[in-house]
Amino acid sequence: MVSASDTVALRQPDPGPSDTGHGASDSDQALPLLARARAAAAAVTDPEIPVVTLEDLGILRSVSLAAGRIQVVLTPTYTGCPATDAIRDEVARALERCGVRDPDIRIELAPAWTTDWISPTGRDKLKQYGIAPPQACAQPGDTASAVLRFVARPRSHKGLACPRCEAHAVELVSEYGSTPCKALYRCLSCREPFDYFKPY
Ligand SMILES: [Zn+2]
Repeated sequence: MVSASDTVALRQPDPGPSDTGHGASDSDQALPLLARARAAAAAVTDPEIPVVTLEDLGILRSVSLAAGRIQVVLTPTYTGCPATDAIRDEVARALERCGVRDPDIRIELAPAWTTDWISPTGRDKLKQYGIAPPQACAQPGDTASAVLRFVARPRSHKGLACPRCEAHAVELVSEYGSTPCKALYRCLSCREPFDYFKPY
């Protein structure tokens, strides 16, 4: 018997269940359905930046169990992000692989995703991948940032450092990098171009 509503806090994913053809092993079966579903959804990677997971990016908002059905809430990085359908499909496949039947996968656009939701682990992974992580635009306790969330943040690269050599001497090449949510910069020290994940 499951409770009507049972939500687990998001945390680092457990090692995913092994795929051994004939369904889950004994140890996998021992894991509650919700824990398996949460681990599977959290481990799905972003189709555009495969080194970061949906959990790293803060796209995975919640995994819960209600009336015996797994519900997953996702918030895409921006409205109309072309990767949204791909992300939803990937989550559905990951859940199916760990034995979740008929999950309820919801896309919620409010509150709007912000780069502030990217975890410290996610920021490290972006940097290792050669993408400068978004600069924090607000100090903790700056309530104005929450109020002004829907106002475009100023285009500033103050504090931005080259992800390869850490130099701060950088120049904007294009407002748009490999995807609309990134800008293309060049490092004036090592001369390498790099993507900057723009803060939202
Ligand atoms: Zn550099």
